[in-house]
Amino acid sequence: MNLDSKIPEGPLSKKWSSHKFNMKLVNPSNRRKYKVIVVGSGLAGGAAAASLAEQGYNVSCFCYQDSPRRAHSIAAQGGINASKNYQNDGDSVHRLFYDTVKGGDYRSREANVYRLSEVSSDIIDQCVANGVPFAREYGGLLANRSFGGAQVSRTFYARGQTGQQLLLGAYSALSKQIGLGKVKMFNRHEMLDLVKVDGHAKGIIVRNMATGEVSRHASDAVVLATGGYGNVFFLSTNAQGCNVTAAYRAHKRGAGMANPCYTQIHPTCIPVHGDKQSKLTLMSESLRNDGRIWTPKDAEVAAMIRKGETDPNLVAEDDRDYFLERKYPSFGNLAPRDISSRAAKEACDEGRGVASTGLGVFLDFRDAIKRDGQSTIKERYGNLFDMYQCITGDNPYQTPMMIFPAVHYTMGGLWVDYNLQSTIPGMFVGGEANFSDHGANRLGASALMQGLSDGYFVLPYTVGNYLGEQGVAAAGKVTTEHPAFAEAEANVKARIDKFLSIGGTESPRSFHKRLGHIIWEQCGMARSKEGLEGAIKDLQALRKEFWTNLRVVGDADGINPELERAGRVADFIEFGELMCRDALMREESCGGHFRVEHQTEDGEALRDDENFAFAGVWEYKGDDVDPQLHKESLIYENVKLATRSYK
Ligand SMILES: Cc1cc2nc3c(=O)[nH]c(=O)nc-3n(C[C@H](O)[C@H](O)[C@H](O)COP(=O)(O)OP(=O)(O)OC[C@H]3O[C@@H](n4cnc5c(N)ncnc54)[C@H](O)[C@@H]3O)c2cc1C
Repeated sequence: MNLDSKIPEGPLSKKWSSHKFNMKLVNPSNRRKYKVIVVGSGLAGGAAAASLAEQGYNVSCFCYQDSPRRAHSIAAQGGINASKNYQNDGDSVHRLFYDTVKGGDYRSREANVYRLSEVSSDIIDQCVANGVPFAREYGGLLANRSFGGAQVSRTFYARGQTGQQLLLGAYSALSKQIGLGKVKMFNRHEMLDLVKVDGHAKGIIVRNMATGEVSRHASDAVVLATGGYGNVFFLSTNAQGCNVTAAYRAHKRGAGMANPCYTQIHPTCIPVHGDKQSKLTLMSESLRNDGRIWTPKDAEVAAMIRKGETDPNLVAEDDRDYFLERKYPSFGNLAPRDISSRAAKEACDEGRGVASTGLGVFLDFRDAIKRDGQSTIKERYGNLFDMYQCITGDNPYQTPMMIFPAVHYTMGGLWVDYNLQSTIPGMFVGGEANFSDHGANRLGASALMQGLSDGYFVLPYTVGNYLGEQGVAAAGKVTTEHPAFAEAEANVKARIDKFLSIGGTESPRSFHKRLGHIIWEQCGMARSKEGLEGAIKDLQALRKEFWTNLRVVGDADGINPELERAGRVADFIEFGELMCRDALMREESCGGHFRVEHQTEDGEALRDDENFAFAGVWEYKGDDVDPQLHKESLIYENVKLATRSYK
């Protein structure tokens, strides 16, 4: 497996502009001879499909929802970062770059992160032009708020619905191209395999989820923008449909999978309330601008709160432990997610947790309401407060919210080079599906920035460059008549038949839940050698059981959510094992990857830069064969590797 990152020569700040100049261009009349498949119509895929079509390429875009508007991106609440420095508070491209590299615990690629910071301002302009109604100051300028891991205010937002508004913007751009006939949109189609011809990605196999029809689609390049794999944990803040299938099947076709163990546990989610739950709810990080996180200092007081014997509002100021403010005075409640999550877990491990399970801490707006008034707080976060009240029955204006960390985002993903091209030539990966920019921990409000950067500003150049390199004579040469399509289609059909024919007793959801339990316990917030070794064995046993005792009701000829879930869970089980292998291999703690064997005296992550400053990239070698690890060394020329401190 060749891991040439293709980072352009030259100083960091000139790399992207000189690379853009040096890339191949395809002349406008030749662009219409090429076809590009984009799988995914969330922010990354929607933006890429619209931009490529705007350039003149013929695009086929696929999603499994009934409309691109329902992509998981719609759930994003808090905001999107950009280094515009509207607040005049010291922000710059370099500071956003630095914060992101540091926030990722020095496990991301400098050149990609710099480009991301560089184009962040263009994203905001593009979105405003698309009609995204960002919040504004009284004078009309766009407003900003703060997110974790930064001491400047650089987060643009649209109340608590930033993802929805951004997605509507990308969707309008996409709809324009659908209307013009440049994008052919395939809703309710699930990609189930990638087709390679002579080593290059040349198409996909999809199943029509309404009719069950399996079909072949050929193209000159394929873009995967299929989102993250947080649902491997079963419970997460992700939409129910989020899955790893497209990425994992591409992995099985030769795409390297990078850093799968890097997952993000978000500190501010509504605590789990029982074992019948299938979804967790995020309370946006933006709430930490004004909310203060605490637990009682005394475990006995916490126990009384848990039993309903006292009211949190009655706990005196001196008896409260605002643990983030205490431990990280410079960043306080806006410490990054990995650090804040671990601090909450630590407080609960000490018996000071609240919520009926003891797995909860308070997020309290009492002081903010006293300072700014309830109407101001309502204006800022009203919809989030309403959502909280609907779910918990508590009024957060009167009693502090209860929150606990939950799985939220995945920094790992398919390996890509600087051009966002995977190890399969012609297959590009954008948005949360790739591993590119966030290292071992993503900063809040940076996922939307990355998805739109990839979709609007990077892929339209780099896909064109690839097509230009292949030459116009190659355009449309491979058709679905090629035997590689027949082979992939037969594989997909055989797998569907297999799911339906096992005839066991256990549902896909039940297997999913058991999988999630193993991964959360052993590859969640704290990981150990012993636990991970055990998890790998448990997952192998679970896989065997799955393939012998699965029960999928219904048939393949129409809508069948059980069949869809079976396919996704099968991939999650294998992928979960890869995550555990990756976590076991990485004998250090960094960002969201916390190995209990590697921590400082005060419980902070202890990196090992000498041995682990690399991206771990896994190559699939076959069922029941150990995957092979490859390493992309991470070279830091512009940021000095240091122990992260938010104190
Ligand atoms: C509750 C919540 C709040 C968040 N808030 C923020 C925030 O405030 N700021 C921020 O920066 N980030 C936030 N994030 C993270 C951010 O929303 C996501 O990382 C981002 O939206 C992912 O975009 P994407 O385009 O990569 O993928 P998605 O939006 O997940 O889109 C994936 C697309 O791929 C398609 N797809 C997937 N698999 C297949 C397949 N096999 N076949 C066909 N189609 C397929 C889907 O149909 C969909 O169209 C939040 C996340 C959550 C869960």
